[in-house]
Amino acid sequence: MRNFEWLEPRTLEEALAALDARSMPLAGGVDLLGELKDHIAAPARVVNLKSLPGLRGVRAERDGLHLGALTSLAELEEHAEIQRHYRALAEAAGSVGTPQIRNQGTLGGNLCQRPRCWYYRSEFHQCLKKGGGICYALAGENKYHAILGGGPAFYAHPSDLAPALIALDARVRIARQEGRRTQYRSLALSEFFRTPAQRLVGGETLLQPHELLVEVMVPPAGESRYLKFRERPSHDWAMAACAAHLRIAGGRVHEARIVLGGVATVPWRSPAAEKAITGLPLEEALSEARLKQAAQAAVEGAQPLRQNWYKITLAQTLVRRAVLAAAGRPIPEV
Ligand SMILES: Cc1cc2nc3c(=O)[nH]c(=O)nc-3n(C[C@H](O)[C@H](O)[C@H](O)COP(=O)(O)OP(=O)(O)OC[C@H]3O[C@@H](n4cnc5c(N)ncnc54)[C@H](O)[C@@H]3O)c2cc1C
Ligand code: SF4
Repeated sequence: MRNFEWLEPRTLEEALAALDARSMPLAGGVDLLGELKDHIAAPARVVNLKSLPGLRGVRAERDGLHLGALTSLAELEEHAEIQRHYRALAEAAGSVGTPQIRNQGTLGGNLCQRPRCWYYRSEFHQCLKKGGGICYALAGENKYHAILGGGPAFYAHPSDLAPALIALDARVRIARQEGRRTQYRSLALSEFFRTPAQRLVGGETLLQPHELLVEVMVPPAGESRYLKFRERPSHDWAMAACAAHLRIAGGRVHEARIVLGGVATVPWRSPAAEKAITGLPLEEALSEARLKQAAQAAVEGAQPLRQNWYKITLAQTLVRRAVLAAAGRPIPEV
């Protein structure tokens, strides 16, 4: 680990003012400490966010949920309102790592965590993502990599919370300091992430080095579920996952949002899959033919690598099951 300056700001303004291209914010540290120890990240300054006031906790308001960026994953998993009305989010948070990781890891850190590609995590591989000239995964070990949204890099987006929150139509609030004033902007979480073609080196979001994610807002939701398949059931990132969110009224599907995780370089929303079941009477939307159509649409354009063809079938199965589950129908265990 390279030496760095350690900063303990007492206010958001102080934290923002200390951030620049040579600094990094630290929330729970679950991801960042690993990067520092493994020589993947080498900031000159680390800005500890942990004791900032006002960035932690869940507020349930009339316009939906307001989630502070420093809220722990365990709190999201266990919160009664989230379990009752935003089930996909509780399930996604509960599926992350181990209880220790969920106690330590935060919402903001989970959304901004860096890729798990082993070439990226190896200090001995200077791949495209780190400013080098080659993507080692292309001809190398690519079992866990992306089948969608790839090129020139092919890592799979690692966050479980991101697909669930996008399915729930969440927005993010971003802060930056301009002189003495703190400025905020907010945007749909679906627009927050960048594919490697949009941004290769640096983060996987549109955050600038002097900005912080401060809040996630989730509007009142319909019925939602998050299903995830992982290699080690005890704790692992998704090989594939699907978040489905349905608004059902009068026996009809008025709105469907379907987002895949673990199979693309960004959380992968599929408008074509959503269209296949939207506007239909519920029984027709849940028919085998319609679910198959939605599942096929969700992976349209997939370009698997040598070792990850299995993700096509896996993602399709998860789409079918997540939609059934969101509609309250029984599904076989994945
Ligand atoms: C063994 C293991 C298993 C795991 N399994 C899973 C899993 O199954 N699913 C899953 O989704 N994740 C998994 N993770 C990842 C884990 O969930 C994340 O590493 C964790 O959520 C990061 O949160 P943190 O608060 O510790 O972030 P940190 O490590 O503090 O930060 C992570 C990154 O985000 C940046 N950052 C943090 N907060 C902000 C903010 N508010 N604004 C802007 N930038 C910010 C940091 O600079 C850093 O680059 C696993 C991790 C481990 C070690
Ligand atoms: S997939 Fe991305 S992170 Fe992995 S080796 Fe290729 S460029 Fe690097």
